[in-house]
Amino acid sequence: MTLESEKIEEMNDYFVKIAYFSMEVGLEQDVPTYSGGLGILAGDTLKSCADLHLPVVGMTLLQGKGYFIQKLDENGNQSEEPVNWDPVSSMKLLPYTVKVRIGDRDVAIQAWRYMIRGETDATVPVYFLDTNVEDNHPEDREITSYLYGGDHAYRFKQEIVLGIGGVRMLRAMGYDRLTTYHMNEGHASLLTLELLRENEKDPEAVWFEQARWDPDIVKDLCVFTTHTPVPAGHDRFDNDLVKKLLGGKKENPKGGEDPYLIHEIPFEIVDNLSGKGELNMTLLALNLSRYANGVAKKHGQVSKEMFPEYEIDSITNGVHVRTWMSEEFQALMSKYVRGWKTDSFMLRQAMGIPPEEIWSAHQQCKKKLFDYIYRTTGVNLDPEVLTLGFARRAAAYKRGDLLFRDIERLKEIREKAGKFQLVYAGKAHPKDEPGKALIRRIIQRSRELADTIPIVYLENYDFALGKLLTSGVDVWLNTPKRPQEASGTSGMKATLNGVINFSVLDGWWIEGHREGITGWSIGPRPSEAPAGVDTDALDVQDLYEKLEKVILPTYYRKRDEWIGIMLNGISLNGSFFNTNRMMLQYVSSAYLRRLG
Ligand SMILES: *Cc1c(COP(=O)(O)O)cnc(C)c1O
Repeated sequence: MTLESEKIEEMNDYFVKIAYFSMEVGLEQDVPTYSGGLGILAGDTLKSCADLHLPVVGMTLLQGKGYFIQKLDENGNQSEEPVNWDPVSSMKLLPYTVKVRIGDRDVAIQAWRYMIRGETDATVPVYFLDTNVEDNHPEDREITSYLYGGDHAYRFKQEIVLGIGGVRMLRAMGYDRLTTYHMNEGHASLLTLELLRENEKDPEAVWFEQARWDPDIVKDLCVFTTHTPVPAGHDRFDNDLVKKLLGGKKENPKGGEDPYLIHEIPFEIVDNLSGKGELNMTLLALNLSRYANGVAKKHGQVSKEMFPEYEIDSITNGVHVRTWMSEEFQALMSKYVRGWKTDSFMLRQAMGIPPEEIWSAHQQCKKKLFDYIYRTTGVNLDPEVLTLGFARRAAAYKRGDLLFRDIERLKEIREKAGKFQLVYAGKAHPKDEPGKALIRRIIQRSRELADTIPIVYLENYDFALGKLLTSGVDVWLNTPKRPQEASGTSGMKATLNGVINFSVLDGWWIEGHREGITGWSIGPRPSEAPAGVDTDALDVQDLYEKLEKVILPTYYRKRDEWIGIMLNGISLNGSFFNTNRMMLQYVSSAYLRRLG
């Protein structure tokens, strides 16, 4: 039998060097293995690896029952329905099975392969681990079913399958030249324990001896990207759970005290590496990585403040251009921007596209979105009216309802400066009550405003709707509480489609924003808005002022200027905030190993 690794390496004419681990990977509409930004970033990353012929493979979980389908009733109450999908239609089941010990059972894991084909035909396989294997205990068959479902124990089991199972699967498939294991967020950190176990030195030495477990060997192999700017977002598991699922005693071959082991490694060693008293997945990753980074310049700084003892660099996120640019805009690029498909930097030249052609392509995208809105909600929006879009996870910190602080003011803006309308979308995590309440508030407000400002809330924000929205509105609104937007990527998708960002200066927008040139800011500059200070009132004032005095007048009365900003966005920001540029930075900063 030809090994999987031989097959992939032969197809691409290189040895695979890097394995990219992520809890979720979002690749296309019909593969519902993601919940939002993290997964879609992972998918875009791997697509760019294929475009750039990078010797990378992806490792993730199947999430056989997806995240969920969101339904909203007329009062905005969210209910969740399971996603039915069959991996057979997009992936191939591979003939490899590995086992990991979880609690007191061995759990068998199989893998599905999804093949990404890059722009010039290089391939990057993504392996989806699956415990739904006949021999497994019924409970264990569900471990890879629900993305972010279940309790702490369920989550920890998923992370065991991803980290430990993932490394074992790579070994079974014959990947034996890997020089880098990239952990996309702390969910994958347990891979470090499997590498530590594999690299156990001198089995004759004393169990407890540090020298037997050399973190430097593992450190040399690993790279870590953190995505979470708030302490509560970092995965932590208490030691009782860790011991229950990964622990066990081993008889000391030399006699004397029997050591207590976590995944066959002395407990003390693991505890020291992972934050003492609990298993902190971020600390485990930071302690065992040769390189770590945040996902925007600001996020890198915030992460350093959270973990002052570590070097944390930053590489700003991007989006995959061919995935997120509308067909209409792609056709224009092909006409006016030579080589844009293989070289995203060429998008700089979008500046020269004739304004009337950009406008007409934009109006086509807008019409596509409005047709979808009419079909799904019965609401008929006017494509000549300024339309603002807001779609993101309905989490309280994103402040999706900030715009509604002062309804009278909003009506006054409509009277004085012209018509506008809003399109919302976003799921709340099934257990996030404040997030669900936020959706209800937006929908109630939209009812109060129905006669003056049309507002729709679209159900089930997903891959396809994301693309429709980020290409079909005029302005992309974003109002996170600082500094909680690590990067944000939907605004980058908007930029690629000539949709202008109007956003709080946080995450990537701090780097992409030039007032009136690439878009508009909301609220104070980062230096004037220290973390922890409540800027709600300042932000909302600025939002209203700019909407009334700058955005509406420019849209209705200075169309040339408006189109100029659209083109600036593509040229200045589309050419930079993409995953091809991002991956080149990962190669030079993270993947190239320095000697000594
Ligand atoms: C791009 C995308 C996201 C992430 O966007 P943010 O700006 O980080 O909120 C989330 N969900 C979907 C469906 C997307 O397409």
